[in-house]
Amino acid sequence: MQKPKFPIFVTRPSLPDLNEFHDQLKILWDSKWLTNNGAFHQRFERELAEFLGVKYVSLFSNGTLALITALQSLRITGDVITTPYSFVATTHALNWNGIRPIFCDVDPIYGNICPKSIESLITPKTTAIVPVHVYGNPADNSELQRIADTYGLKLIYDAAHAFNVRENGKSILNYGDLSILSFHATKAFNTIEGGAIICHDSKTKSRLDFLKNFGFADEVTVVAPGINAKMNELQAAYGLLQLKSAESEIEKRSRVHQLYADALKNIKGIRTIPIPSNVEHNFSYFPIFIEPEYALSRDKVYEEFRKRNIIVRRYFYPLISEFPPYRALPSASPDNLPTATNLAQSVLNLPIYPDLSQETVEYICHQLATAFNS
Ligand SMILES: *Cc1c(COP(=O)(O)O)cnc(C)c1O
Repeated sequence: MQKPKFPIFVTRPSLPDLNEFHDQLKILWDSKWLTNNGAFHQRFERELAEFLGVKYVSLFSNGTLALITALQSLRITGDVITTPYSFVATTHALNWNGIRPIFCDVDPIYGNICPKSIESLITPKTTAIVPVHVYGNPADNSELQRIADTYGLKLIYDAAHAFNVRENGKSILNYGDLSILSFHATKAFNTIEGGAIICHDSKTKSRLDFLKNFGFADEVTVVAPGINAKMNELQAAYGLLQLKSAESEIEKRSRVHQLYADALKNIKGIRTIPIPSNVEHNFSYFPIFIEPEYALSRDKVYEEFRKRNIIVRRYFYPLISEFPPYRALPSASPDNLPTATNLAQSVLNLPIYPDLSQETVEYICHQLATAFNS
């Protein structure tokens, strides 16, 4: 087995067929309608909602602005309980709304926010919970919803990793008050940059549509200090083409996932995340956890892979709570976050994308199995 000649990155975006995209561009050039809820935007919202099995989709220019706007739309203020084990945008979105993040520990298997730890963090200032379906694994929604209902809190999911993930046959994007998606180039489904908010009724959908367009409800009415977070027609046209291959791309990812899962299951000191039998996954990440029994430390494994052209990543290290804007918060103390701290120190994300070759996966697994001795 040979070291790859070129760097193998942790992900590689899938693009639509260039000729088909060109045909869409021709339509766009003829219409000269480039943004502001044009024909492609309207069609993409409809087809995406149908594809995902959700009621309403509001498209956004990226996931971060979707998250910021989701919090705005529900007028969330005060303190919000969230997870430090995520991409930094989850907490930044709170910060941009003047909300104080309260970091909660996570469960040791999936790395999702731990409902058991939430209740002790609730105070009169708490207004909402912002969980993340980390790596696309469903958070414990029934418990989260029970807590939200008991204490009168809103539940807003950062579902950036959860494109088309289903539990018991239903999209997990239907959970809570709102869910946000990211269609960034590195995600399981991309519109280059892009995002969406999933909501459950038409009134919320119109409010989100106003907010992403400066707060305009009509030509002369501004109902809120909205922002400009609209998806443009080019992205929407590209997204419509991406939808056609979304299922087959996930199917290809699942094959890569299975190769890894089979090859790594008996290596001492390497833990992987099991997929429950009632979950249809999108296989967007392949995280492994390097435990103390393994021959090498996590950071040594990271370096050894990089020497061999395998550009692994340590998502999510450091924890969000360790970054300077947040580390002085009382809830950011590692004593409050023992499990998240442990996961951040042991995690490594292996490359996974639809056309990652079997040969490369075998090379990566062989390196892990022999502790880089071959
Ligand atoms: C990618 C990501 C975001 C941000 O989405 P963008 O579209 O890049 O703005 C937010 N939260 C999580 C968990 C993400 O992985």
